[in-house]
Formats: sequence, structure tokens, C-alpha cells
Amino acid sequence: MRAVKKSRKLDKVCYEIRGPALARARQMEDDGQRIIKLNIGNLAVFGFDPPEELVHDVIHNLPQAAGYIDSKGLFSARKAVMHYSQQKGIKGVGVEDIYIGNGVSELILLSMNALLDNGDEVLVPAPDYPLWTAAVSLSGGTARHYLCDEANGWLPDLDDIRAKITDTTRAIVVINPNNPTGALYPDETLLGILQIAREHQLIVYADEIYDKMLYDGHRHTSLASLADDVFCITFNGLSKNYRACGYRSGWMILSGDRRHAQDYIDGLNIVASMRLCANVPSQHAIQTALGGYQSIDELIAPNGRLTRQRDLAWERLTAIPGVSCVKPQGTLYLFPRLDPKLYPIADDQVFITELLEEERVLLVQGTGFNWHTPDHLRVVFLPHLDELEEALDRIERFFAGYRKR
Ligand code: PLP
Repeated sequence: MRAVKKSRKLDKVCYEIRGPALARARQMEDDGQRIIKLNIGNLAVFGFDPPEELVHDVIHNLPQAAGYIDSKGLFSARKAVMHYSQQKGIKGVGVEDIYIGNGVSELILLSMNALLDNGDEVLVPAPDYPLWTAAVSLSGGTARHYLCDEANGWLPDLDDIRAKITDTTRAIVVINPNNPTGALYPDETLLGILQIAREHQLIVYADEIYDKMLYDGHRHTSLASLADDVFCITFNGLSKNYRACGYRSGWMILSGDRRHAQDYIDGLNIVASMRLCANVPSQHAIQTALGGYQSIDELIAPNGRLTRQRDLAWERLTAIPGVSCVKPQGTLYLFPRLDPKLYPIADDQVFITELLEEERVLLVQGTGFNWHTPDHLRVVFLPHLDELEEALDRIERFFAGYRKR
């Protein structure tokens, strides 16, 4: 019988956050081993509960949430997102400019599906949240990776962005605050990116899902708030700021000059309609989430749980010989560098698998974030301090053994 093959569209698609190492970790768990999983930003499983009133809203509205609704989402939820975009200084956004999706993930796929023809290029950061690269490839496009410069706090290298623009470049993706580096971009960098977009008529996709998860008193500027004349699509959702990844609820906001974009917007509407609508019960939580008291502020305060965990993980990792790490200003990730002289890693997937098998800690290798050399890892700092200490002890021990090889 003929072998059943996956689509060739998937040839360039990879999503290592849930890659082979996770499958191995699950096997080990089935064998009764306890694995400390620092591989995924899934807040709820580490005891970061969503705000109680969100849960109540979903439960309370469940009986009314059984039917399909408008493909773009509940009016009340989109109105709340509209007010949120006003607060963030994004001008000229109406309810019709807002789309609710099954998480930002679905909207990333939907927005790339509606945009790209075979051969179109999209500028995507390296390192990136790999769904962006995967979504571009799956939609027939080519991701051209622009460098974020570790020596400059992981800020995007504007010269590199310029150098990678071709006749077929359609858009640029900006992830700020950044996953996996934790970098937060200053206005100057955002303005530089907007200027490039303006000159080359690129759409800007601004993934701002961590915009409230900031440390040391930092404040976030929405890229779209800095220009009225550039077509921007801004992404955000309930997963991170509201610790509700499993609710699968996110949104995207169209702003800026849309006069020449009607055809693309029609395309977005077609693709949004094809999936009928996003999960309805969780949309009832959006209005409550965005208004009033923001409980995440407690977690990111100087003595808050997330801040303390970030500090511990950063201090412990950077104390290991040959490990350096730009201190994250936001998110829940660290992206340390392992000096190749001390850690001559040929294949970082093998490296993290060995770490998993020897010490039962699961990380994701840097190349899984489209980083070009096998010398980085991503560490999630979500466990409570005692479990985090244990994970760091194990990592430190594995690294010491590796240096002696
Ligand atoms: N964008 C970034 C930068 C992320 O880190 C993630 C998830 O980790 C997503 C998007 C996907 O979020 P959602 O749960 O809303 O699909």
C-alpha cells in the first residue's frame, strides 16, 4: 500500500516547544519519573491562577454561550479591546477592526493565511516565537530572519532588517516583549522599525502578548501607538497576562492606514468566517479581564512571585561557568548563552535530551527558536522558588559534567 505522507507544506515547519524532547519526557513520566518541565509558558499548571472573576464570568455565561456568534467575536469583548487600544494610545480603532480568535496562535495562522502567496517573504526575528516562522511557511511564504542582537540587549538590528528586504517582502513581525529573550524594546527601536515599514510599505505584525508582564517598573509602548500612517496588526490575549492559556482566547487589532488594504481585510474576513467563530465561553471573560484591577501587578511587583523567580533563575544561571544571559525585562523566559569553548555543543537537541535523561529537567533548545547556532537554551522560570532551585541544581550539575567531558 502507498505510504501516507504529510503535506510538503510542512517540510519547513517546526515547532520544537512541543517537539521530540517533550514526547521523551512524557514516556519518562509514564515510567514513574518526575520531570521538572521548564519548557512551556503554561502558567496555570504552576499555580498561577486566572483572576477569579474571569472564571465566574465564563461559568455564569456558559448557558448563553452554546451558539455560533459573529466570526469576529462578541461585541462586548471587542468593545473592551477597543477601549484597551485607546488606553494604549492606538488611534482610530473601531469594533470592526478587532478580531477575537482561539488564542493568538489561531490569529497568527489566520493572518498569514490571508496574506501570503507562494514566494512572498516575511521578516521574522531570530530568535523568534517559532509559530511565526511556522505560520509563514505553512501559508506558502518564506520567513527571512532578522537578527536580534544579544550584545545590544537582544534589540532588533535595524541594519540587518534593511539588508534583508527584497521585492517580495510583505511584512515584518515584531515580538515585544520578546519570547524567548525577555527583551523589551525602547520607543527608539520601535520608531526605527516603523520607519523601515513606511519606506518599504510593509505591514507590521506586533505580537504584544506579554505587554503587562514587565519587571523593574518598565512600561510597554504599543508599536501601533507610534504611527497612524503604517498598517499594523497588534496581537494580545488572555493566555499570559491573565494566566488563562487554556481558555484559548486572544485578539488582533487592525490600525493605521488601511486605505489600500481592503482586499487583504476581505481575505481576513473570509478566513475568519471559514472557522465560523472562536470559542465563545471564554470571550465572556475578556471585558472583565481588561477592565479594573489588574492582578498581574502583584506578581511583577519588586517582591512579587514572578520577579523573585526571575531573579533567582537569572542569578543562578549566570553564576555557572561559561553561561551568560541578558536579564529579561519582561515575559517568563530566560535565553542563556553557553560559551562554545566550555560547551562545544554540536546539536542542541541532543544536549537537551541528555539533560532530560540525566537530570529530569526539560528545556527547549535555542535552535527551536530559529536561532542559528546551537549555543542557547530557553528556560521558563514559572515553578515556585523551591522547585526552581531544585531544577537549577540539576542544570548546574549537568553543565559541570558536560564541561568535564
Ligand atoms: N505569541 C507569543 C510571543 C507567545 O509566546 C505565545 C505563547 O506562548 C503565543 C503568541 C500564543 O499565545 P496563545 O495562547 O494566545 O495562542
